[in-house]
Amino acid sequence: MERLFKPKRVTEILNRHGFRFSKALGQNFLIDGNIVRKIVDSAELTEDDYVLEIGPGIGTMTEELSLRAKKVLCVEIDNRLKPLLQETILDNYDNVAIHFADVLKTDLNELVKEHFGDNEFKVVANLPYYVTTPIITKLIEDDLNLKSITVMVQKEVASRFAGEPSTKAYGSLSVFIQFYSNVVYNFTVPKNVFMPKPNVDSAVVTLNIKEELPNIDRDKFFRVVRASFSKRRKTIINSLSTYGFDASKEEIKKALELSNIDEIRRAETLTSEEFIALSINFPNI
Ligand code: SAM
Repeated sequence: MERLFKPKRVTEILNRHGFRFSKALGQNFLIDGNIVRKIVDSAELTEDDYVLEIGPGIGTMTEELSLRAKKVLCVEIDNRLKPLLQETILDNYDNVAIHFADVLKTDLNELVKEHFGDNEFKVVANLPYYVTTPIITKLIEDDLNLKSITVMVQKEVASRFAGEPSTKAYGSLSVFIQFYSNVVYNFTVPKNVFMPKPNVDSAVVTLNIKEELPNIDRDKFFRVVRASFSKRRKTIINSLSTYGFDASKEEIKKALELSNIDEIRRAETLTSEEFIALSINFPNI
C-alpha cells in the first residue's frame, strides 16, 4: 500500500472526501516521509512502547507510529476526519484506537488507563499551534504515567522550551518546562513539508519527564518565577517588589540575600536552581 505521506495520496484522499482544512484547528498536515520518520526516530520508540498521539489529522504519522510501537491511542477533535481515518488507519492497522474529543477537555488519566492499563507511555505529536502550551501544560500537570513528549511546535516555542539562562529565549516557560523535564531540541523543520504551508518554521523537541522533582511548594515557585520575569528589563528586586505580592521590599531583599542572588541581577540570568532557592526563602505570599 502506498504510504500516506506522499503529497499526491494526501491530496487524493482529501479531495475524495471533500475535506477542507480548518485554520482555526491548526490543521497543517505533514507530506514528507523523511520528516515523519525523523520525528518518530526522535521519540526512540521500541516495539514495547505505548504511544499517545494528539491530533492525528489523516493519520500520516499515526501509520509510522503504528508500525513501530505496541499500541497507539489518538485523540482528534475534528469529527469530519472520522471517515478518512477509518479508511487510512482503522481499516489497516489493528493496534490503533482513535478517540474523538478535544484533548483539553479529556480526562486523560481515565482514557489512557482504559487503553494502556498502568503502562508507561510516550506522547508523539505534530501539535496544533494555537494550543501548544495549554496541551503541554495539561500533559505535564495531569500527573500521567508519562515517559517523554516528542512534539513538533513552532520553532520559536521550541527555543523557549529549551532556552538557557542569559539568552533571549529564556523565560518563565523555559523554567516551567525544565522544572519537569530534560529538554532536547532535535531539529528544525522548514515550512514546505506541510499542507497547507504554515507562516512560520517549526521544530521538534523531546521533553524527557524527570522521575524525581524537588520537594518544594510548586505553586509558590511558579508565582515567584512569573513575577520575576514580569518586567524583563528591570532588576529582580524591582520586578518582585512592584509585582503586588503581600511582602515588603525589605523582606524580598532578605530572601534574595539568603539565596545568594544579587538584587541587581535580571531574572533572565537566574538558573532554575536559583529560582528554587529563592522560592524557598521567599516570604509567604
Ligand atoms: N498529525 C497530523 C500530521 O502531522 O499530518 C496533523 C497535525 S495538525 C498540525 C494538528 C491536528 O490536531 C489536526 O488534525 C487538528 O484537527 C487536531 N486538533 C486541533 N485542536 C485539537 C484539540 N484541542 N484536541 C485534539 N486534536 C486537536
